[in-house]
Amino acid sequence: MTLKSHIDRRRTFAIISHPDAGKTTLTEKLLLFGGAIQMAGEVKARGERRRARSDWMKVEQERGISVASSVMTFDYEDHTFNLLDTPGHEDFSEDTYRTLSAVDSAVMVLDAAKGIEAQTLKLFEVCRLRDMPIATFINKMDREAKDPFSLLDEVEQTLALDVVPASWPIGMGRDFLGCYDLIRDQLILFDRGKGDTLTQGIQCSGLDDAKLAEYLPDHALDTLREEVDMARGLCPEFDLQAYLEGTQTPVFFGSAINNFGVRELLAGLGAFAPSPRPAPAVERAVAPDEAKFSAFVFKIQANMDPKHRDRIAFVRIVSGQFKKGMKMTHVRSGKVMAVHNAQLFLAQDREIAEEAVAGDIIGLPNHGTLRIGDTLTTGEKIRFTGVPSFAPEILQKVRPDDPMKAKHLGRALEQLAEEGAARVFKPYLGSDWVVGVVGPLQFDVLADRIRTEYQIPVKFEPTSLLTAEWVEGDARLLKQFVDGNRASIAEDHTGAPVYLARNSWHLDKAKDDFPDLRFLKTKEEI
Ligand code: GDP
Repeated sequence: MTLKSHIDRRRTFAIISHPDAGKTTLTEKLLLFGGAIQMAGEVKARGERRRARSDWMKVEQERGISVASSVMTFDYEDHTFNLLDTPGHEDFSEDTYRTLSAVDSAVMVLDAAKGIEAQTLKLFEVCRLRDMPIATFINKMDREAKDPFSLLDEVEQTLALDVVPASWPIGMGRDFLGCYDLIRDQLILFDRGKGDTLTQGIQCSGLDDAKLAEYLPDHALDTLREEVDMARGLCPEFDLQAYLEGTQTPVFFGSAINNFGVRELLAGLGAFAPSPRPAPAVERAVAPDEAKFSAFVFKIQANMDPKHRDRIAFVRIVSGQFKKGMKMTHVRSGKVMAVHNAQLFLAQDREIAEEAVAGDIIGLPNHGTLRIGDTLTTGEKIRFTGVPSFAPEILQKVRPDDPMKAKHLGRALEQLAEEGAARVFKPYLGSDWVVGVVGPLQFDVLADRIRTEYQIPVKFEPTSLLTAEWVEGDARLLKQFVDGNRASIAEDHTGAPVYLARNSWHLDKAKDDFPDLRFLKTKEEI
């Protein structure tokens, strides 16, 4: 096989959904198709654990998952799927957004009784910014659900997205009989309670096929014909280009827990979802089949084994091919590194990567050299853009219970900042650190990690600070600003100056006094 055909087989995607819509269950079933049954059980166990009582417990449980299940690679028919997991709790959406920068398409899972929910909408907006193709899976049809027309209408109206049914449900809840696959003209009957076995679709010549009457009661068949007729009148035809541009979504109905409709979804992804797409860099766009290897870091995760302080950098390959032992340039530092111990994340296991191609994710054990957003390449020194950076919205001070541990705490915070788990600022004056996050639960997780991974019990305390903004500009002017405002200046973990504003008046005044400096809510991670 040529490199190009290897790359074309890849489908790298993520699932976006509101908690409880069925992401974990769907993931488990997708892995069953990929033959990764053992892992599927693990995902299930994790889902069950995660349905613990409090938010905090859920988060705690999620952190217990092995690094391996952040990326799940499996083969089905002619394709290799890389499914990237995203955290469930919205306080960790930073991580989700970064992960979305590393996929080529998404599956949006909706609960048929609930339709579009808050977190679905938020994640959808991120996908839209990237014109990402989205397939929709309407789950839990075995329960009382909204009417399929109103579900389609809700997706269309709320998301301003054209919808095209790929399958049509026959009844719902207790009367759910199955779906008619509109793409392959097949009747798929729902076999209640046989979640782990698969019913074969019954091939038909169309909705007029007399065979249908053998399987469906008259009233159900009449309704199906009527509804499909109406749906075809209301919805545009499936348009591959429109789906690839992110303006049209094919909609599959099913029931993940009953393994119903999952195969059709997977077949749809194989047939329509994009193979690896070009990625934007500062200098130019990079195509997947370029000969030179290039890749970017989109996530860093601490190894869960506290004895090993190393972290795994998750790297999305943008172009070319990775081979074990390959030498590549780390563009930010200019250093060349030989990579012998990259990992591949097979659904069941992790293994040392011998080879990987554009679209794949490899994990590089990392002692702090690699940061989120970094580019690695064997070619010219490009810098990939597109890994988003977030404004710290809530700021708290942190101090160790034992004041002698201040220095150790500093080191721990720096590492957590490099990992992207928080923004960390060291004020010029005073001995406390200031930590900025997006969601308040992140403080609980940080305190817990600092205690368990670094053996430093700490306390977070509220501050009266409004915001932290990075300050950039002419060096002489910057120095003048910093000297005149030392009580409000801090450094981030890279040493870049940050203005800690007590209130909006304070911030406005600083901006008025130094109109030629730039105040930034986020800092690009390149
Ligand atoms: P997540 O939070 O999106 O990962 O959702 P889960 O996969 O954990 O599912 C949430 C709940 O919905 C669990 O109790 C599942 O057993 C249940 N569930 C998932 N899929 C279905 C389905 O197709 N039908 C029904 N009735 N329940 C489902």
